[in-house]
Amino acid sequence: MQTVAFWILLLLFVGAFAAQVARRVQLVAAAPNTFSLDRLGFRTSRFLLDVVLQRRTIRERPLAGLMHAFVFWGFVAFAGYTLVEFLYGLGLVDLTHARWFHAYRIALTPFATLVLLGIVYLLIRRVFVRPPGLGPKLSLESVVIGLFIATLMITFLLTFQLVEGTLAAHINWWVHALVILVFMALIPSSKHLHLVLSPITVFLKSPELGNLANLDFEKEQVGLETVKDLGSKSVLDAFTCVECGRCQVNCPAWGAGKELNPKTIILQTQDALLAGERERKLGEVYSEKVLWQCTTCGACENQCPVGIEHLPILIGSRRGLVSNGDAPDYLGAMYNNLERRSNIWGLGYDQRTKFVQSAALETFDPAKHDVLVWLGCAGSFDADFQKSLRALFGILLARKVKFGVLSKERCTGDPAKRTGNEYMYQELAKANIADLEAAGPKKILTSCPHCVKTIGDDYKKFGYQVEIVHSSVYIEELTRDLVRGAKADPLQSAKASAERSNGHETVTFHDPCYLGRYAGKVDEPRALLTRFGATITEPERNRDNPFCCGAGGGLLFADKEEEPGSRISDVRFKQLQATGANTVVTACPFCSIMLKGAQASAQADTQFVDLMTFVKDRL
Ligand code: SF4
Ligand code: SF4
Repeated sequence: MQTVAFWILLLLFVGAFAAQVARRVQLVAAAPNTFSLDRLGFRTSRFLLDVVLQRRTIRERPLAGLMHAFVFWGFVAFAGYTLVEFLYGLGLVDLTHARWFHAYRIALTPFATLVLLGIVYLLIRRVFVRPPGLGPKLSLESVVIGLFIATLMITFLLTFQLVEGTLAAHINWWVHALVILVFMALIPSSKHLHLVLSPITVFLKSPELGNLANLDFEKEQVGLETVKDLGSKSVLDAFTCVECGRCQVNCPAWGAGKELNPKTIILQTQDALLAGERERKLGEVYSEKVLWQCTTCGACENQCPVGIEHLPILIGSRRGLVSNGDAPDYLGAMYNNLERRSNIWGLGYDQRTKFVQSAALETFDPAKHDVLVWLGCAGSFDADFQKSLRALFGILLARKVKFGVLSKERCTGDPAKRTGNEYMYQELAKANIADLEAAGPKKILTSCPHCVKTIGDDYKKFGYQVEIVHSSVYIEELTRDLVRGAKADPLQSAKASAERSNGHETVTFHDPCYLGRYAGKVDEPRALLTRFGATITEPERNRDNPFCCGAGGGLLFADKEEEPGSRISDVRFKQLQATGANTVVTACPFCSIMLKGAQASAQADTQFVDLMTFVKDRL
């Protein structure tokens, strides 16, 4: 009788589970295929760290992350127990009296205790602490699931107390089994589907932050216009969101009070897919205004513990808007400059030539030069940033590095690519690649982190491979021998050297998103600063999770960021000011422009120094 009842219930609940999963599988299968399995070694090690060891979950929020990890590890450990109990309940085979199973049950008791501890902590946090990322409304579903998990652990622990064959033991067994069945039926329609999907999405997540495949114009690809254009990875991502809000609280746009919330973008995608709104325009699903508020800083994608990629959705939707002529006016002017003059400022190339001549720069020749210096739009035309480049040239000359520049450069195409003007980006990229291939450098050096990303990652998609390094990384290596005992551990020695030196200067360093987060270069700028006598005081949000300056994603060109909220650059400037340091060191031309603008608005007397100028002045 018990067996028959269990068979019926199992079929009912498994049926409910399968029907809901099938609907989601169908939606993923119907989407254009964007799954990729390149760099399998990297993906496997990331899987082990982020899924098995829960690195990302624990690193960002150590206590809550550890409690979540206890629950996850408990789930994995209990899989075999559940299977054996279900086989017994179905009358198929009784392994519950095997000696190994007895040992296994005993081994599970510490897991059960830790899961119980973890789930009670997470329930208290959700119901009483209510962190902002979880949203203003208490999720009843999360509370129910939390209570289910607690019940499973309590009923398991009770099996050691209750005598087998008694009514109490029977009731306990049924409560445990029923909770599992109901839980299973609830999973697909809840955020707990991440239990099943997140190992897959983490494995499938691109190894490259902000990875955007080139559009193929011959196949008439124009970007994402409607819900049905979303790629298969984006569709899978939409069903995996655990609604933790990490992307939200780390988003500079949300932090500055804008309407953009990356968590909402993912949940809106999920709703539109489940509602079958295949033909609905993405500009309506998310609102066009919101799509233009993204700086492409990558914080959302980088912080997400379940491998969700926001940028293919955000920039993909921008591509769709641009192809329909729906870009904001301020971008129209920038595109015009790129089209007519191949640089974002729309200035004549004679100005770059004048700079190249006044700095006595040679045209790159692979037989003569070690490295090609890429000036970038800022270096070619912005008088302020040219001072930084002159400092870089001074350091290179002092260290006897032979370098040259291209006789002509165009913008790498970064602002066009991140704002969705793929056609313009590809025109610029192909022309630059032709020039670079003709020049033949083995190594490129630049002071612009955006150029590092575009030439280093995006140009690879056209088959062009070159080593490109940011000046902070190159000069850090080049000046290591200036530190006594540097050979043992250059970064540590730099710190020790600075501590020995007198006349410390306290500075704060603003990590550019495209250097700290995208390229992961956070130690080298700091090593340079300490090596040349600075004491660093860190701002809120630093290293590989900086708060954006507000320039990326074309927002450098916006007259003023869309209301409501504050300017992102003002928020960042206040964070830098709060360190108490009177000097802010920057390492990106666009961060420098934005933060100086914020300083002017705040009428503060903070000094801004570019990293290369800082080093050159103290060399
Ligand atoms: S890339 Fe940055 S600005 Fe854009 S949604 Fe993500 S966190 Fe927000
Ligand atoms: S997208 Fe990722 S980080 Fe954002 S709420 Fe969902 S799971 Fe959390």
